[in-house]
Amino acid sequence: MTFSFLSHLYCPKCMEKYQASLPQHLCHCGSPLLVHYDIDALKELWAPEDLKGRSPDLWRYHEILPLQDPTYITSLGEGMTPLLPLPTVQSDMDIGKLYMKDEGIIPTGSFKARGAAVGVSKAKELGIKELAMPTNGNAGAAWSLYAARASMDSTIVMPVDAPKITRNECALSGAHLFLVDGLISDAGKIVGKSVENSGLYDVSTLREPYRIEGKKTMGLEIAEQLGWRVPDVILYPTGGGVGLIGIYKALKELQQIGWIASDKMPKLVAVQSEGCAPIVDAWEQGKKESEFWAHSETIAFGINVPKALGDFLVLEALYETEGCATTVSDQDLLEEQKVLAQKEGAFICPEGAAAFSAARKLRKQDWIKSEDEVVVLNTGAGIKYPDTVQMEVPVLNPGDNL
Ligand SMILES: *Cc1c(COP(=O)(O)O)cnc(C)c1O
Ligand SMILES: [Zn+2]
Repeated sequence: MTFSFLSHLYCPKCMEKYQASLPQHLCHCGSPLLVHYDIDALKELWAPEDLKGRSPDLWRYHEILPLQDPTYITSLGEGMTPLLPLPTVQSDMDIGKLYMKDEGIIPTGSFKARGAAVGVSKAKELGIKELAMPTNGNAGAAWSLYAARASMDSTIVMPVDAPKITRNECALSGAHLFLVDGLISDAGKIVGKSVENSGLYDVSTLREPYRIEGKKTMGLEIAEQLGWRVPDVILYPTGGGVGLIGIYKALKELQQIGWIASDKMPKLVAVQSEGCAPIVDAWEQGKKESEFWAHSETIAFGINVPKALGDFLVLEALYETEGCATTVSDQDLLEEQKVLAQKEGAFICPEGAAAFSAARKLRKQDWIKSEDEVVVLNTGAGIKYPDTVQMEVPVLNPGDNL
């Protein structure tokens, strides 16, 4: 049986095709490349029953992932995270059914592990020895640790302000780690220059085609966990937008191979922070691409991306699913983080909290209906961000009474 039904790469902008047997980056037109599978063969040869008995990680979907030789699987057990019902917050928000897809318990502490697992495995299969990337923290942590697992070298550049724990994860993995006194876009320029001169394999967001394939497994899992159907709404904290593009791609592929109904897509919602909302701006103006967001700032570091390479793909997914894009303030997301901890015992990351806060807001505006089934992505572990929580706690002396 074929391990992967990978067929080729293609450009979603100009439709040019590329061979997947060679390392590829952007299309000559500047667009990211996407992976195409042999849909007819998948339809004929692959069925949901085939998943029975497979390990509960993302490799259970290997037929629709790009790795062709299982020898190169680089895994830390990532995937099949819980789709957790949230009965208390659900009634607090007056939403029919509310689930959290909880990526907080995945290796390296964020869903970036999915992209890294598939991206590093495929890089290994392609014979890559050393990769390089700019990051806001979590991606660098995931890619450097997975690179270590694959015995590959990595060079990582991140803003000095990125969460310290992610810096430590990179450093401990043995990565060549550099900090830049600026934003991820500045880190990107530095990596871009060094890639040109050194031949390092560039794994910047969407500059290699396989990270998306790892992240799309969130969409595959949501459909499987709901019994091969989709919810009404999925909210996603959007930075580079890879996860949202991936979920949309996954659900379209599942429709094409006939595993889910072809007449229903969830409305996809891109959630951004008020301090960095280029996708929301573009969506509100009905535009196909976003503008660079100057002086971006938010406590939700993972979604501080002033201009995403795949913005047009995110916007297309929003338009095609009749979804929307919306912002929340840092204050509101911190408030929501508290709500999730107090009402559900879930210590979610600020990015995930932004998505929950957006669900509350959209319900109030009646964009989300009271009978809707809603899935919110919590993209990482709250414990990775110890400094976002500020609490006054009384200190007792030994022998004091409460
Ligand atoms: C990277 C990141 C995001 C944004 O993901 P994209 O797919 O790039 O939009 C959201 N949350 C966390 C915790 C992240 O690390
Ligand atoms: Zn192109």
